[in-house]
Amino acid sequence: MTQLEEQSISCPYCGEAIEVLIDPQDAGDEYIEDCQVCCKPIVFNVTVDSMGSLYVFVRDENSAY
Ligand SMILES: [Zn+2]
Repeated sequence: MTQLEEQSISCPYCGEAIEVLIDPQDAGDEYIEDCQVCCKPIVFNVTVDSMGSLYVFVRDENSAY
């Protein structure tokens, strides 16, 4: 069973704090979701550490790794 986890991130474009629901099954994946405030595409990166804690990293679409 998958439990969605709520995380708070800051938009890389406008800096607004946004609440997002993260699906642990997305771990290791990268996906794009538009900012609720400025509507720009935020790249989400979901990772899970060895303790099973969920982390989400965001970056703007144009920045390199
Ligand atoms: Zn934004």
